[in-house]
Amino acid sequence: MRDTWVEVDLDAVAANVARLREWAGSELMAVVKADAYGHGAVPVARTALEAGAGWLGVATAAEALSLRAAGIGAPILVLGLVPDGELADLRAAAVAVTAAGVRSLGPKSPGPPLRVHVKVDTGMGRIGVLPERAAALVEAVAGRADLSWEGIFTHFAAADTDPEFTALQTHRFEAVVADLRARGLSCPWVHARNSAAILSGQGTGNLARAGIALYGLDPGGAPGRAQKLRPALAWKCRVAQARWVPAGTSVSYGRTFVADRPVRLLTLPVGYADGYRREWGGRAHVLVRGRRVPVVGRVTMDQTMAAAPAGFEVEAGEEVVLLGRQGDQTVDARELAALSGTIHYEIVTGIRHRVERVYRS
Ligand SMILES: *Cc1c(COP(=O)(O)O)cnc(C)c1O
Repeated sequence: MRDTWVEVDLDAVAANVARLREWAGSELMAVVKADAYGHGAVPVARTALEAGAGWLGVATAAEALSLRAAGIGAPILVLGLVPDGELADLRAAAVAVTAAGVRSLGPKSPGPPLRVHVKVDTGMGRIGVLPERAAALVEAVAGRADLSWEGIFTHFAAADTDPEFTALQTHRFEAVVADLRARGLSCPWVHARNSAAILSGQGTGNLARAGIALYGLDPGGAPGRAQKLRPALAWKCRVAQARWVPAGTSVSYGRTFVADRPVRLLTLPVGYADGYRREWGGRAHVLVRGRRVPVVGRVTMDQTMAAAPAGFEVEAGEEVVLLGRQGDQTVDARELAALSGTIHYEIVTGIRHRVERVYRS
């Protein structure tokens, strides 16, 4: 194995599932798209199901089929729209798809019915049918023998920041569901909530879709509950080379860092091709021997340098935490996200597959 790796604590995932189910007070869908936000879809999916999640959510047909190929038989919903050409495989694998219009469900076909969840766009402005057209779509789906209508859902645009808009979306969605019931159309699954809505007690339905909180990361909007989540991921490496360099030594491409005194230069075997982002050069910190040590100079494709202060005789081979905890120090995904002007979702999903995932439980 390379000297950089990601450790995923599956016990933390299981504990988060238990919390989320309790807060949601409903069935839980573990959203494991994008390789479980970089944590590894198959191990996370298995753990979440064992811990009580009843559904898995993915973004693409390929993600759903790879869970099936790993022997996972639980209900799966593809949250994105899939091209016609991928529907036959999903039908055969009993994977549910999202419908935003009848045309997105392909031509009629024989065999077992395709499982369908109708997506209503109540204010996300991404995919879905507008509320006023939802009943017509549901009637069209429910009326086709080759389709099995089993859910209706919507997605919140700002559950972390805007309770008023979330309440409006909830109201629009509930009106659609009530209208369907009045027409004699009711379905097993009604879902709206994402992580932020679950933590803050917003939204509605008998199923809730948790992504970021499953991994122990704060979705925003409910700091008290977020503190009870357990981050599951740590990214580590070992020092590849450690040496004293004299004052005046410049470090890395472009010579953006020049030592103003002797420093213990630590070369770390990780770079932007691993997802350790280039903009962290000169800005991020790593943890060594329980202390925060600055990253100096530019992050390169495969290697990054950090500078330990005098009196701090770090040696090659010592363990470094790039993201996670060491002793009482933490570098969390939010801190790194802030350095990149982005959100922690992008940091964990951005750790490349070149970095091996190892699992602890
Ligand atoms: C990604 C996604 C989620 C999960 O969102 P989190 O904020 O990570 O909980 C839920 N629903 C849909 C439709 C999504 O695309």
